[in-house]
Amino acid sequence: MDFSNYNYKTLSSLKFRKFVIESVNKQRKFKFINDVVLNIREEKNKVIVVGNKKNYLAKHVFDSRLSEKNFNEIKHHTYLKQHFVGWVIKTNKKIFNKNSFVFMDYRIRDKKSTAFTYVLPFKKDEALIEHTYFSKNECDKKVYEKYIIEYLKKYYSDTSYEIIKSEFGTIPMTTYPFYKKSTKNITKIGTVGGWVKASTGYSFKNCEKYSLKIIDNIKKGKALRIIPKKRYYFLDKILLGVLSKYNNRGETIFYRLIKRNSTKKILQFLDEESKPLDILKIIFSMRSIHFILIFFKSLFKKAL
Ligand SMILES: Cc1cc2nc3c(=O)[nH]c(=O)nc-3n(C[C@H](O)[C@H](O)[C@H](O)COP(=O)(O)OP(=O)(O)OC[C@H]3O[C@@H](n4cnc5c(N)ncnc54)[C@H](O)[C@@H]3O)c2cc1C
Repeated sequence: MDFSNYNYKTLSSLKFRKFVIESVNKQRKFKFINDVVLNIREEKNKVIVVGNKKNYLAKHVFDSRLSEKNFNEIKHHTYLKQHFVGWVIKTNKKIFNKNSFVFMDYRIRDKKSTAFTYVLPFKKDEALIEHTYFSKNECDKKVYEKYIIEYLKKYYSDTSYEIIKSEFGTIPMTTYPFYKKSTKNITKIGTVGGWVKASTGYSFKNCEKYSLKIIDNIKKGKALRIIPKKRYYFLDKILLGVLSKYNNRGETIFYRLIKRNSTKKILQFLDEESKPLDILKIIFSMRSIHFILIFFKSLFKKAL
């Protein structure tokens, strides 16, 4: 991919959290309460939030709770999970190029699944190496670690390293229409608002976009339910359908997507800023029997 016009950026969740909390604390209108929400229910235009410590009454609630129930619900729709383990490693030699990163390296992986490695350098001797799966079920942690060790052994054999941080995550990738669970007084946000892009598992861009939209709607006194645009949903559904049905074909699918479309058009699609014609061009560029099959199946079936 030609990234000459772009920069890769890393966001530290700790620093981001600190920044947000400090900014909010500067405003006297806001108050942080630490409590576990057990239930949320609506009564006559008011919302009651049942907490572990006490109950709270509100006119409007933004709800970001993701439960086991949600994972069961998504199984009735096309779904995968993005699951991964990442290690931040410090090497004894300066082996990383700070100006480049490895996006989806399929060379070492479980050949039955869509799985790949990222290498995101922070310094010449420090990088995040992450092994990621797009598949139905999480693996034992040792599986991801085995692939990371193998990757390091094969492509960075010249150096020794120490693990300075490790991370693990599971992100649902689904066409499940989460937004339908929002009501007039309860807005589902984040993953349970359907803000995670189904075909990639990325959410940061949507979180930014939809948060701004909500603020704008509050100011204008408009409804606070966020309904994702259908046109992106359609391509996401096909891409996710193909990955779900032919889980070992991820390498070919992403190769075609990247090889046959410009970086700009791909990033526009990931950011949900493509024009309808560009979406059609991407679908056409992916021409393969699997895509055609899933295209027709997705018209009639909600779970692939
Ligand atoms: C290690 C890691 C790396 C990632 N990297 C990327 C990336 O590069 N790009 C990207 O787009 N996405 C990435 N993701 C995914 C991204 O972080 C999530 O998709 C996103 O945070 C989802 O937002 P959310 O608001 O739904 O959930 P969260 O960010 O998890 O926020 C939910 C909040 O609700 C609170 N909460 C939940 N239940 C309750 C309850 N019952 N009572 C009270 N509070 C509750 C939680 O404490 C939490 O603060 C990554 C995830 C992980 C774990």
